[in-house]
Amino acid sequence: MTYNITLIPGDGIGPEVTEAAKRVLEATGIAFNWEVVYAGADAQERFGAVLPDSTLASIRKNKVALKGPVTTPVGSGFRSVNVALRKELDLYACLRPCKTYPGAPSMFKNVDIVVVRENTEDLYSGIEFEKGTPETLKLRRLIAKATGNKVNTDSGISLKVISETASRRIVKFAFDYAQAHHRKKVTAGHKANILKFSDGLFLATAREVAKDYPDIEFNDIIVDNLCMQLVRRPQPFDVLVLPNLYGDIVSDLCAGLVGGLGVTPGANLGDDIAVFEPTHGSAPKYTGKNKINPMAMILSGVMMLRHLGETKAAEQVENAVAGVIAEGKNVTYDMKPNIPDAQVVGTSQVAEAIIKKLRS
Ligand code: NAD
Repeated sequence: MTYNITLIPGDGIGPEVTEAAKRVLEATGIAFNWEVVYAGADAQERFGAVLPDSTLASIRKNKVALKGPVTTPVGSGFRSVNVALRKELDLYACLRPCKTYPGAPSMFKNVDIVVVRENTEDLYSGIEFEKGTPETLKLRRLIAKATGNKVNTDSGISLKVISETASRRIVKFAFDYAQAHHRKKVTAGHKANILKFSDGLFLATAREVAKDYPDIEFNDIIVDNLCMQLVRRPQPFDVLVLPNLYGDIVSDLCAGLVGGLGVTPGANLGDDIAVFEPTHGSAPKYTGKNKINPMAMILSGVMMLRHLGETKAAEQVENAVAGVIAEGKNVTYDMKPNIPDAQVVGTSQVAEAIIKKLRS
């Protein structure tokens, strides 16, 4: 059987890490038909759109995509292609497993946390009002009339939108995931003490959903305390479920706990479409340098193999990655951060070492 997979190389270091992942996945002997499509600045140049219809059509048809990171200009320029893609395809759950592989540069052992991030709303709903525009001034007047609150005239406004529907869906996803993967506890992170109507709704919904899963422990924690607890003692955490912004930040924090962005994979999941991509971004300063760690992308490929039901191959690739990390001979710079003049290799050499291990 051949799997039709949409492949989005992305930009920055995206093409290098997707190429490495493609080579490793092909080395399993499984047949893939890669349908290469584009997104981001690349797509803008080729097709005049950052997220062309042909890209969305390919993912809708194949239902599974492997995606490299895509750059989003900071502060101005086009809006995030990643956010648009997730919203357009209703990929409402972002799954980011963070686990320690022996030999990875971490202060901790035995961390195995899965971050479940709501992917479609919150402060990423894309509803923003620019400073000084007529719409912003109108909204300011409306806020004053409706609530009595004064907003400074020189304010920009971004709306935090949290619905009961999206909260229910993501918390249910987290519990279903916990159940299917024999996890013991789900922890909801929030700021419901301050944001009573948005995070408060998220938390109230989470508590309600939790009642349907009596076999799984549930607790909640204010997100600032969560960050502090995570950096002090991450091991007791199991599945974390968070609204979009906190999920984004906390998953990078968790990546830092287990060895960095170079080893943290991810998936964006909807009801019938799955897009696999690492937690890290396009790291533009390393573009074309054959320097960056491809393991996060390769481990995203492992998640894809599991999604396809190729459990044995998934296990083999994950073991090969773990083996290369444990040996420490063929790893990139980020795996030996505090060792002066450490012996390190490049992106493609890591892929070769993993393939060699896979075949041994
Ligand atoms: P980043 O994740 O690209 O890089 C931050 C730093 O982390 C890098 O400079 C590097 O030191 C390290 N790093 C990242 N990936 C690594 C890897 N595979 N191996 C070793 N080290 C690695 O974050 P950023 O610099 O904040 O963002 C750069 C761009 O990427 C931005 O335009 C941002 O919007 C975009 N981004 C895209 C995605 C995505 O496509 N899903 C996700 C996050 C950020």
